[in-house]
Amino acid sequence: MKNVSEYFGSLVFDGRVMKATLSAEVYRSLRKTINEGAKLDIGVANAVAAAMKNWAVAHGATHYTHWFQPLTGITAEKHDSFISPSPDGGVIMEFSGKELIKGEPDASSFPSGGLRATFEARGYTAWDPTSYAFIKGKTLCIPTAFCSYTGEALDKKTPLLRSMEALNRQSLRILRLFGNTEARRVTSSVGPEQEYFLIDKEMYEKRKDLVFTGRTLFGAKPPKGQEMDDHYFGVIRPRVAEYMEDLNEELWKLGILAKTEHNEVAPAQHELAPIYTTTNVAADHNQLTMEIMQRVAARHGLVCLLHEKPFAGVNGSGKHNNWSISTDTGVNLLSPGDTPYENAQFLLFLCAVIKAVDDYQDLLRISVATAGNDHRLGANEAPPAVVSIFLGDELDAILTSIEKDEPYSGTKKSTIKLGVDVLPKFPRDTTDRNRTSPFAFTGNKFEFRMLGSSNSISCANIMLNAATAESLRIFADKLEGADNFEEALHDLIRDTIREHKRIIFNGNGYDDGWIKEATEKRGLLNYRTTPDCIPHVLDKKNVDMLTSQKVFSESELRSRCEITLENYCKTVIIEASTMVDMARKQILPAVGKYTASLAEAAIAKKSVSEELACGYEKSLIAKLSVLADRISIGIDELEEAVTSVKKNEDVISESAEIRDKVLGKMSLLRLACDEAETVTAAEYWPFPTYGDLLFGV
Ligand code: ADP
Ligand code: MG
Repeated sequence: MKNVSEYFGSLVFDGRVMKATLSAEVYRSLRKTINEGAKLDIGVANAVAAAMKNWAVAHGATHYTHWFQPLTGITAEKHDSFISPSPDGGVIMEFSGKELIKGEPDASSFPSGGLRATFEARGYTAWDPTSYAFIKGKTLCIPTAFCSYTGEALDKKTPLLRSMEALNRQSLRILRLFGNTEARRVTSSVGPEQEYFLIDKEMYEKRKDLVFTGRTLFGAKPPKGQEMDDHYFGVIRPRVAEYMEDLNEELWKLGILAKTEHNEVAPAQHELAPIYTTTNVAADHNQLTMEIMQRVAARHGLVCLLHEKPFAGVNGSGKHNNWSISTDTGVNLLSPGDTPYENAQFLLFLCAVIKAVDDYQDLLRISVATAGNDHRLGANEAPPAVVSIFLGDELDAILTSIEKDEPYSGTKKSTIKLGVDVLPKFPRDTTDRNRTSPFAFTGNKFEFRMLGSSNSISCANIMLNAATAESLRIFADKLEGADNFEEALHDLIRDTIREHKRIIFNGNGYDDGWIKEATEKRGLLNYRTTPDCIPHVLDKKNVDMLTSQKVFSESELRSRCEITLENYCKTVIIEASTMVDMARKQILPAVGKYTASLAEAAIAKKSVSEELACGYEKSLIAKLSVLADRISIGIDELEEAVTSVKKNEDVISESAEIRDKVLGKMSLLRLACDEAETVTAAEYWPFPTYGDLLFGV
């Protein structure tokens, strides 16, 4: 077994390789582009491309691809080989700076939400030099953004990079006000904790619902589920341990800092967390991680399920987005410091986040909205759909004392004067296990916990960065014009707390009382489903903020709204159609067969003696017949619901119609089928059960 430090990043064209393969001048200029976003000239690009190609070919690569993240939610790649004919009839391996910087995939089939007429189907991809190129199989993958020819973003990376730029711009304004002249760049960092299920591949293939939709659409509760809590942090089984070992090795070769892994609450559920890194790199890495998790699973006869709710009745999977903001000089702006200066600056950034989350709670909810995640949010296994912030008692007490201009009991009973006093030390609450809060402060970062396991983390971080940038802009506008900076700062922090404290909640988010209080007393939003929340991305305040921060244009927002809702509609309709198919072709015949066998047995008994004929078969046949009728009616009604949904021009009303008409019928059909499962002999049931799937690895 090789030493990890020897192969870590071996498939990445990272800083070490750049230094070794580029001239000092080219390296310096590329670094400037990576660190400061400086423009890259074509001469440098040519030199980088040549070095990249040589390195990739030496590592067995024959092709290259511009690797990007279209709005489908997964990644896309189109492979071109390096070969180019040479005059003597052979080939040479070529790759130019132009090919590195810009690609033109024929991408007419990617969703664009009307942004790109199909006759000019070609979008273009543009290199993101801040995310290292890597080799996958025999292909050099170059992380890129994907835009239309008119410059509109057709992907998730472009707006993410723009949001990071917005946050950088506004944060630097604030830092300058605090006299910081050194920091040249402020970036957000993310460490996403990824949950997933592992199940046996052979069983998976026997279930059309898993194959077509990624989740089970039927399945009675097994005798044992997660009630014993004996899986969480439990001993990792050998087959899973082998998988994790293999997965880690693959991820490490790609320079992904996979760090912790453990069993999760549900049986067959696990988690993987990397060490945090710059947001756009973290987003690329998370996409790559999800892809490799699935690929490695196949090698082990397993399937990795990334769906938010693969099994009813056991916890689904989420993704915790740990997020912080720091300077290029290494200061975490969300870390309370030791000096009055650091404290005041920390409190201002903290207030910026509090204001951002309150003002744009809808955008945060929107950023995690999918049909799959609708099953988790508010179902007492993940945070509710109401956004709130958990600060912990210590920090909350400090904010309260500032808000009321009252003494804080943690200090020598004196009123805290910002910029003068040192705040009391509040212990970093890294042990916080209040998993019920959607947005928790955990000592030096915020943990946004509403993301679904299959979500791209780009969407959530775009909104977080943009909304925080907007708070900081408003703060900077105020403070830059102030006569007395310290006084203005104090007032600004106090007023922000007063205005936005409704978003702070340290209690139990699963409590029904909280939802009532949140919506009725505090006026917080509770968008329960995807069709509820997505249209609000187009609310004037949201469009104004996102366009003025230059994160999205209005037409980009319209297209995203449309694509997300279309995606919702398609997902539900595919699920409903799969249910109809399975119930009609597998479940109903199985129930029928079992009923027939019971009837045969009853007849056989009857031929022996009249009395024997009144055995259990009779009542069971009656029960099964009733259930079969219910199933049959359920199938017809579901099918009717699906066909009755009008193919609407207006996808907003279409998605709401699908939610209202189809979901209820899906539940009814499932209920009847699950009940039938509990009374049907195992050998007749047409596919693996929950017990098989959850305890079969
Ligand atoms: P938990 O207690 O939630 O299990 P950890 O403290 O181990 O979490 O961290 C979870 C994730 O948070 C990891 O991916 C870690 O790298 C990341 N993380 C830690 N510090 C920061 C930070 N300052 N900014 C962003 N992410 C961070
Ligand atoms: Mg966590």
